[in-house]
Amino acid sequence: MDVYGLLGNPVGHSLSPPMQEAAFEAHGVDARYVTFEPPEAELEAALRGAETLGIAGLNITVPFKQQILEVVVPDDRANAIGAVNTVDFPGSGPPTGHNTDAEGVRRAFNHHDVDIAGRDAVVVGAGGAGRAAAWALQEGGAEVSIANRTLSRAEDLAEAIGGSAHSLADLTTLIEDATLLVNATTVGMEEDSSPVPRGALHDELAVLDAVYKPLETRLLRDAADCGATTIDGAWMLLYQGAAAFELWTGLEAPIEPMNQALRARL
Ligand code: NAP
Repeated sequence: MDVYGLLGNPVGHSLSPPMQEAAFEAHGVDARYVTFEPPEAELEAALRGAETLGIAGLNITVPFKQQILEVVVPDDRANAIGAVNTVDFPGSGPPTGHNTDAEGVRRAFNHHDVDIAGRDAVVVGAGGAGRAAAWALQEGGAEVSIANRTLSRAEDLAEAIGGSAHSLADLTTLIEDATLLVNATTVGMEEDSSPVPRGALHDELAVLDAVYKPLETRLLRDAADCGATTIDGAWMLLYQGAAAFELWTGLEAPIEPMNQALRARL
């Protein structure tokens, strides 16, 4: 039996185990997916231990996504984004680091028949999810504007991947000309609030909210009321997991059973 896992702290409510195990089951692969909570200072030891024990692959989440860059060999995408959420153990050579959050964003838009190329896109947030979203949109050929509460983080991100940096005060003007919008802040998780003024939304937008708890955020409700296309955070979660599964196993991810397993728990 192969063992895959998630390294983070905390990981108690992760939805990755049921989603990945549904994928293994659909392919008849004898594998389990388990969660690990190493102490923050012990990341490197945890990774070495996983490798020694023959763990087949890992997902990485908060607070380790940046720190792990120093102990794996990141691919070009993970390097550009500045975060790793998937580790592979190729057998010979050191563990490799990848970022499938960006792929999650790309495939979430694609699933909803939303083209990225040539569009004006606004990413709200410049943390891990914001970096991945901005990279995916930029790489996909969109013109990206990044707006963040802390302007200097938006500026750092725009410098790293391209695009322009703004404060949240610019959102209404930016969104007026945009047709893609991604919320990559944590706003909407804890309380029923939106990082985007309702009046800024319009019906030519496709809006992806990275927040998936709750599934129906205030932003997505406001966007739906305006006639915009809405894409909830579970689509991004699904497709980042699908990309990780494909990277580890070389098999095509079974989207339907993974999606069912995920949504049954949301
Ligand atoms: P993070 O690295 O901690 O970044 C948090 C971001 O939220 C920063 O840009 C921060 O701005 C902003 N923010 C926090 N509180 C705010 C407030 N009150 N007003 C305005 N902006 C605020 O977190 P992350 O890992 O990027 O995660 C962000 C969200 O994406 C979370 O909801 C997470 O669950 C979700 N996510 C979803 C997926 C998925 O697959 N669906 C994957 C990854 C993350 P400052 O820079 O000013 O602090």
